[in-house]
Amino acid sequence: MELKRVDHVGIAVKNLDESVKFYESLGFKATGYEVVAEQKVKVAFLPCGDSEIELLESTEPDGPIARFIEKNGPGIQHVAIRVDDIDKALEELKAKEVRLIDQTPRYGAGNARIAFVHPKATGGVLLELTQRL
Ligand code: ZN
Repeated sequence: MELKRVDHVGIAVKNLDESVKFYESLGFKATGYEVVAEQKVKVAFLPCGDSEIELLESTEPDGPIARFIEKNGPGIQHVAIRVDDIDKALEELKAKEVRLIDQTPRYGAGNARIAFVHPKATGGVLLELTQRL
């Protein structure tokens, strides 16, 4: 699989507007506001060179981001690697018997196809593969 770069780092936040305000005070410009209902999150992207920071706030008390914050507090939730062909990447990982959360790609914020690799396989990091469309 062709690994392009770190696409973004996902940060779980309690309040998206407050977090955006903080990052904008540092000089970031928020773009790509989006609600992904399926994942119960609203997100904003903060571009930084070739990569971005993705801020994620849960829209529901039982969403994955809410559960993450309950367990760990706010903070880095995942690291996303950009690939050029996510279907091929998943096939390669399956052939290597790497434990996956997503067997097939799903929709991700920023018009992407994404899939998560299980943190048990990576030494504790939730790894997202992302193919931007
Ligand atoms: Zn992400």
